[in-house]
Amino acid sequence: MTLDTDQFLIFILLHEIGHLRKGTPGAAFRNGEMSQLNVEPSRAKAAEEEADDFAAEVLKTRAKQMPVGDVSLAANWVVMELGKLSWNMQAFRTLDEFGAFAVGKPSVYFDNGYSHPNLAWRILRVADLIQNTESTRYLLKAFEEARRRGTNPAPLYHK
Ligand SMILES: [Zn+2]
Repeated sequence: MTLDTDQFLIFILLHEIGHLRKGTPGAAFRNGEMSQLNVEPSRAKAAEEEADDFAAEVLKTRAKQMPVGDVSLAANWVVMELGKLSWNMQAFRTLDEFGAFAVGKPSVYFDNGYSHPNLAWRILRVADLIQNTESTRYLLKAFEEARRRGTNPAPLYHK
């Protein structure tokens, strides 16, 4: 789906406001850690999740704001944009990375460095925080199960 970058930028700005509100500035990087694939928790990742939590809460609250008006409409456009991004990322994982789900391929499911959680996971998590439906919960859990498979790789077949 074609993305409207202005709508996604609103999510990013809300995320950045979340950092300002929580007092969590960007992390420093050393020794090429940014490019390392991992699933380890870190303080920087927790700060990113908190900033996402802030953005999700603002969008959830404003999207349901009554009476319906410019603010609730604007929030719903951003929520729809996150849905489109999630769809595109699912299409990437299904088509371009066919088979990655079965084994939890690290380059698809792990975090790229110690500062930011996996973007696809973040978008699925934010969608679940905002919409909290059976579908958003399922997609998030399926992604997390694939991650777990990636941390404990099992042979695809036995001799
Ligand atoms: Zn951030």
